[in-house]
Amino acid sequence: MQRIVVLAGGIGGARFLRGLKAAAPDAEITVIGNTGDDIHLFGLKVCPDLDTVMYTLGGGIHEEQGWGRADETFTVKEELAAYGVGPEWFGLGDRDFATHIVRTQMIGAGYPLSAVTEALCTRWQPGVRLLPMTDDRVETHVVIETGDGDRRAVHFQEYWVRLRASVPARAVVPVGAEQSKPAPGVLDAIAGADVILFPPSNPVVSIGTILAVPGIREAVAGAGVPVVGLSPIVGNAPVRGMADKVLAAVGVEATAAAVARHYGQGLLDGWLVDTVDSAAVAEVEEAGIRCRAVPLMMTDVGAAAAMAREALALAAEVQA
Ligand code: GDP
Ligand code: CA
Repeated sequence: MQRIVVLAGGIGGARFLRGLKAAAPDAEITVIGNTGDDIHLFGLKVCPDLDTVMYTLGGGIHEEQGWGRADETFTVKEELAAYGVGPEWFGLGDRDFATHIVRTQMIGAGYPLSAVTEALCTRWQPGVRLLPMTDDRVETHVVIETGDGDRRAVHFQEYWVRLRASVPARAVVPVGAEQSKPAPGVLDAIAGADVILFPPSNPVVSIGTILAVPGIREAVAGAGVPVVGLSPIVGNAPVRGMADKVLAAVGVEATAAAVARHYGQGLLDGWLVDTVDSAAVAEVEEAGIRCRAVPLMMTDVGAAAAMAREALALAAEVQA
């Protein structure tokens, strides 16, 4: 049985994983999820990326929105707002609240996040093993430029959701990463993988944060198996969201080729770019990374499955 390890953020990771499951129904898939986006709100621990993967693969996702629950209502949020209790800019629905209550209760009882995630997945049956990158607290902060030329660090969610990445970002810091350890099972999964995939997730605040947990980057680079990624940048822009802004903060151009070079030949063996970026193939290959141009728009599960098949084919090719 093929063992596939995927480093995943939220929407891009989750939609790709749904395709991968369809493309490789017999594979054993382990997902290492980003927890740098986690935030404490109303006394609750919220793990947006883990939940997006869990809901998407478990059939509970709000399909058009890409995050949060389907058939959601917002009564609790409205009631909190009536007390003047915010933040109002973060959308937590009533159904979603239940997930965070269960998680926070279990963490309060002493369970590590990895055990809590496994327990939540007992309900959702995502069909993959979903591991947080770490059980330790890592929080992505963004250093922004304030109007008067001063700089201030804000939580990633404040930068992304409240400010919509509309202010200049100067640095992205995964606070706590240096002291963190990979969650139980993470390094074993990487060491036992036949192939490692980077879905079209955010290269800085999703995959970059996972790779910032000491030991994970080294394990991926040293696994001795094909590592293949798919570009989240199509036609010199992110397909969704504002990844170009955080790429700029780390000095990387928002192009499919620049993202491949950012990961680097020491990490990546293969890279898929969209057909509109076929001119980038030569540049990526010059950097020592095997590259193909294929359709990369996840318009439906079938399209995502085709992308997953291309990624697995490229992995087989770089191994040969
Ligand atoms: P987040 O945590 O919800 O932001 O999700 P991820 O980090 O997993 O993925 C975000 C990235 O997915 C964005 O940079 C998007 O450009 C990318 N993305 C979303 N949909 C698609 C798609 O259909 N095709 C490609 N190639 N990238 C996509
Ligand atoms: Ca995220």
